[in-house]
Amino acid sequence: MDALKHKTRSEDEQRCIEMLNGSMKKESSIGKMAVVIGAGVSGLCAARALADHFEEVILLERDELPSESVPRSGVPQGRQAHGILGGAVKALQELFPGFEQDLIAAGALPVNPGCDALLEFSHLDSFPRQEWDWLTYGLSRPAIELTIRRRVERLKNVTFRNGTIALKILGTPDGSSVTGVRYQTAENEPETIAADVVVDASRHGALTLAFLKSAGWPIPMETRMGIDIRYATALYRLAPGATGDFKVIVTFPKAPEEVRFGYLLAVEGGYFQLLLVGRGEDAPPADGDAFLRYARELRTPTIHNALQGAERLSEVARYSFPESKWRHFGKLDRSPCGLLPIGDALCLLNPIYGQGITLACQEASLLLSLLSKHGAGKSSLAKLTREFLTKAEDLLIAPWGISAVPDFIYPQTRGVRPKDLQKKLESLGALDLLASRDAHVCQLLAEVRHLLKPMSVLEDPEVVRKLEEQTATV
Ligand SMILES: Cc1cc2nc3c(=O)[nH]c(=O)nc-3n(C[C@H](O)[C@H](O)[C@H](O)COP(=O)(O)OP(=O)(O)OC[C@H]3O[C@@H](n4cnc5c(N)ncnc54)[C@H](O)[C@@H]3O)c2cc1C
Repeated sequence: MDALKHKTRSEDEQRCIEMLNGSMKKESSIGKMAVVIGAGVSGLCAARALADHFEEVILLERDELPSESVPRSGVPQGRQAHGILGGAVKALQELFPGFEQDLIAAGALPVNPGCDALLEFSHLDSFPRQEWDWLTYGLSRPAIELTIRRRVERLKNVTFRNGTIALKILGTPDGSSVTGVRYQTAENEPETIAADVVVDASRHGALTLAFLKSAGWPIPMETRMGIDIRYATALYRLAPGATGDFKVIVTFPKAPEEVRFGYLLAVEGGYFQLLLVGRGEDAPPADGDAFLRYARELRTPTIHNALQGAERLSEVARYSFPESKWRHFGKLDRSPCGLLPIGDALCLLNPIYGQGITLACQEASLLLSLLSKHGAGKSSLAKLTREFLTKAEDLLIAPWGISAVPDFIYPQTRGVRPKDLQKKLESLGALDLLASRDAHVCQLLAEVRHLLKPMSVLEDPEVVRKLEEQTATV
């Protein structure tokens, strides 16, 4: 029976099992040692990618990592509700075959966005309700990270050094390559670790910038958008049947007159996280009763009604997100060999669009494919570094576009507005309207927003024809 099971396993699964058993010879040892700074989602996924191609991978993490799915201080956004997009599920499956089963074992609720999510737009009827052939999952940010970490912990050549703080990225005397990291041990001792590759998954990316400055490299240009987003989340036990059969409810504001978003998201344990989002001075309050009153003032009463008879199980946790920031490492014409910023260290996106985890996973997946493509040796590593940064930059174009254009509808948003902003907003509005009337376009648009398909699918002649017909009749 076992032999039969093995025969039917996919190549990916077999490969993963061999890695876990430590029985697989590295297909191309690009180097001896890779160090990852930060064991958040992007650090964990990067470690998974590196493990196939380095003899040893060490994760330096400043927190003592909890064995339960609880928030921790190194990831302050972890108290806020997080949605994972379809693109994250796909990339996680590529990195960790069978990952969807792990999510379910961790208590995640499968969500078919076509029929389990109620999206309330101000100017549209409800979207066609239909089952799609892909899923997302409802679970809290700490549980997402723990589920990924459990998989990485099983990789024999990956070591976690918890309670350690990376202090400085080290390089050759001419600064052309990284050579390691200086860090502070859990016992407050300074230590140095030699490495061929250093992945900066620290979120802030400060050590990467410091290295570039000290070695005389160009500093990446930044695109910034001041959005002053105010987040607040609390966990609730809802009355039975309170959301009907929806696992996700999102109420959008009528922009630009209104700013408040409301999200009610099913998570592990059968609970729901209520996330309320404001902008600027309009921040959701920390007091439990005032928090509910804020929910009552959303554009529709749907979320507030679902909270009737609910019991709040946590404090209201608040978080401010002043600006989206994209560091254009991919546009530099040169950068040090072996230094790879990833995840939020490359780009911080407005969290309301839920793209950060997807991008971290897609970047790690990109890293894995480039590691497989490039062979051993210094020149390969230099090429890999350049190619990773350029292709990661390309990955960011669509998500930045998806979140930047709607944010500019608010006059208080700071940043350089696209010249054709009005046209872009109108075409997004037209697509939303068509999606509310046409089941095929509805799914296609969702697949673009979930970072499963490129924007170009919306230029399909059939979609263009339907848009033209719609314009002619409006
Ligand atoms: C309010 C908010 C809500 C969000 N909601 C969503 C959502 O719904 N969906 C989504 O996909 N994304 C969301 N995001 C984004 C998401 O949280 C991140 O994109 C994702 O966690 C990947 O981050 P990361 O791994 O790059 O950094 P983090 O997860 O922040 O991890 C960085 C790690 O580095 C460690 N570290 C930092 N400095 C050092 C050092 N010097 N030495 C050692 N360790 C160090 C930290 O302790 C931490 O563990 C949200 C973000 C915010 C702010």
